[in-house]
Amino acid sequence: MDYIQKQKEKLISDLKLKGIKSEKVLSAMWKVPRERFIDQSILGQSYQDVALPIICGQTISQPYTVAFMTEKLDISSGMKVLEIGTGSGYQSCVLAELGANVYSVERIDELYFYSQNMFKELGYNITQKLGDGTFGWKDFAPYDRVMITAGAPETPLELLKQMKIHAKMIIPIGNKTLQIMTLIERNSETEFITTKFSQFRFVPLIGKQGWEN
Ligand code: SAM
Repeated sequence: MDYIQKQKEKLISDLKLKGIKSEKVLSAMWKVPRERFIDQSILGQSYQDVALPIICGQTISQPYTVAFMTEKLDISSGMKVLEIGTGSGYQSCVLAELGANVYSVERIDELYFYSQNMFKELGYNITQKLGDGTFGWKDFAPYDRVMITAGAPETPLELLKQMKIHAKMIIPIGNKTLQIMTLIERNSETEFITTKFSQFRFVPLIGKQGWEN
């Protein structure tokens, strides 16, 4: 496993070169074993800075994307964070490593059970739901932070409603193949400030307030 350790060191230094500054985020990503979330046949690619295929035709996001989105959310310990698109569960664990109380929603049952199993094996306490995350998760709202890890055509209204005042949301918005990473900050009951970053590529957010299946 020595080569994994070396690849991991290289990835962290690459992320710094690409502009990730938060030591907290880099340290969380150092601690979560990405190699455990992917198929053993592509184990050698665990710490390459690329998205990788997981079951059900979905992907585990590129490490740079995980670092970028997590850094923009500026997570502090004890925050209540809603994640839409559990996928492999890797991003949820990075959020949990930062001390967040993570509520994660996934629409595909196989992935819901796959990630549930990973959380148990790795000892992460993540609250999970199977369903359409474009409705958010009202039972635990409002949230300090919201992260959408699938490409949306627009911001689902329900998710905006479930943000606390001063909460932040990070969401890729665009068409089915390319999206603009967008940060939304809620200043008051009615005022939301939007900041746009560069383009990213996600699988589509499928649901009532997302893309049609
Ligand atoms: N965060 C994941 C990780 O660390 O592996 C990567 C997520 S993957 C790029 C996007 C995920 O969003 C897929 O698992 C997909 O099934 C899920 N998804 C798409 N639309 C959804 C919806 N409406 N509600 C919940 N999950 C959704």
